[in-house]
Amino acid sequence: MFKNIVLAYDGSEYSQKALQRAKAIAERFEATLWLVHVFRNPSDLLGYTDFEKLFAKRKSAAQAVLDDARQELGRTTFTVQEKLQDGLETESILKVAENCKADLIVMGTRGLGTVKGLLVGSVSRKVIHLAECPVMVVH
Ligand code: ATP
Ligand code: MG
Repeated sequence: MFKNIVLAYDGSEYSQKALQRAKAIAERFEATLWLVHVFRNPSDLLGYTDFEKLFAKRKSAAQAVLDDARQELGRTTFTVQEKLQDGLETESILKVAENCKADLIVMGTRGLGTVKGLLVGSVSRKVIHLAECPVMVVH
């Protein structure tokens, strides 16, 4: 039923809970888990001398987030594919989902955003609206 599961991970407590859910489902269905983390490309700085440096810095910080997720997953009986994406969160998550023919996207209700009072974060809201497969939002 679930062969390719996308887990959208931003390092937040919510996404950590989503990770545990995604892990349980991937185990149960012997699925491939596509672990996605998106970082913002500082494209407004394109052409400036610091662009490369800033990009490299953001990329390695983003890789560290994926490494943490890997560690939280621990030893797994299923395949894990890491996807480090630069760009816009929603677009990038949906692109990975499309490319791997995801049958489920698992994510947190909220993330690292600081705006209190929001029930569902903007990335989750957009993914729920635009995804072509079921979305599990964990809180
Ligand atoms: P907002 O970003 O709208 O201020 P928020 O940070 O509280 O609010 P979202 O960003 O929508 O909420 O986060 C909801 C979920 O979306 C997270 O738990 C995570 O699963 C996923 N997500 C958010 N940002 C990223 C990211 N950069 N890479 C991968 N997944 C992400
Ligand atoms: Mg956010």
